[in-house]
Amino acid sequence: MPQSTANRGSLGLFCIQQSNKRRWSKMQNLRQREKVNNLDDEIRKRSIQEQIKVMSGGKKMIVAKYTAKYPDSAEREYLRLANAYMTIEREILIRHIPELKAILNEGIKAYNTDSQDKKANERKRKLARFETLDNTLVRLKILFDNIRRELEAAFGLFDLSGKLKKIAQLDYKLSISEWKKVIGKTFGINLLDDYFRGDYYDEMLKKWISENVDLIKTVPSQSLGKIKELVYKQYMDGSSTTNIIKELQRQYGMDKRHAQFIARDQIGKLNAKITESQQRDAGVKRYKWSDSRDERVRESHRRLHGHIFSWDKPPETDNGRRCHPQQDYQCRCCAIPVFDIENLDSTMGGEKS
Ligand SMILES: [Zn+2]
Repeated sequence: MPQSTANRGSLGLFCIQQSNKRRWSKMQNLRQREKVNNLDDEIRKRSIQEQIKVMSGGKKMIVAKYTAKYPDSAEREYLRLANAYMTIEREILIRHIPELKAILNEGIKAYNTDSQDKKANERKRKLARFETLDNTLVRLKILFDNIRRELEAAFGLFDLSGKLKKIAQLDYKLSISEWKKVIGKTFGINLLDDYFRGDYYDEMLKKWISENVDLIKTVPSQSLGKIKELVYKQYMDGSSTTNIIKELQRQYGMDKRHAQFIARDQIGKLNAKITESQQRDAGVKRYKWSDSRDERVRESHRRLHGHIFSWDKPPETDNGRRCHPQQDYQCRCCAIPVFDIENLDSTMGGEKS
């Protein structure tokens, strides 16, 4: 169970600080500040409890009256980052294609490889390449070493970690504003802006950032490895230079889509994690599954729509896999909290009493 510490009650503190500012010594000031903060928290907590009782009208369970929106803008930002990162690889590859072509064509001109018979052309290319094999392999190795060095230098300037941090913070901010809407529309309570600054969430975001740095960083590095392999293989098979370049582009396209896959997948996963922690922190043990009500919803999620599940026991979605909303790839479903009035944490996920 996540524990979070909050920095709440800052408005009440501000007024008293102003009127007594001159009289207090530094130590007194600190002690008093603590007292005011606690008092302010207590009053607030009690008033929230009262309000929840009134709003629930004697009911034990209340399903939230608002469905939190998917963090589309965070996903867009991540997709933009993934594309920008992969464009670096593309630009460096494009710069080196003339050189690659020159290496692959080495010695082939002596043979006529323009006949209608494809097999015959391949045989001739193999023969031509066999004659220059040692030289070509050395040149290819130098070329790919250079590409890798240039890639590493360019990525060093990209600040991947800083950019991912901004995206994680954006997702967090969006999820807080959605949570405030859930509480506001369900109980008529306005949560304070700074109610939710827990160490637990800082750790969660940090972990996500470092995992995502690794995920994204690996894509172009593996991509270059795969491209190198296919160039070698096609070269030995006698494939034409045009075909080799085409295959290289196809491989790059696949790797770029893989980076985009990570972006979509990871925003959903982060948001799912924050949502679960927010609800558990507020004492919510169950949620109502809500699909996004459009034609893109997968069948296995559509049949969960409207049913209530426990945060401790995710339902089965595909092939025996169990998960909560947004944990499946590109899932836009939402977990609508079911508030258990008796066990509700009146800070709604803020400081624990
Ligand atoms: Zn879904």
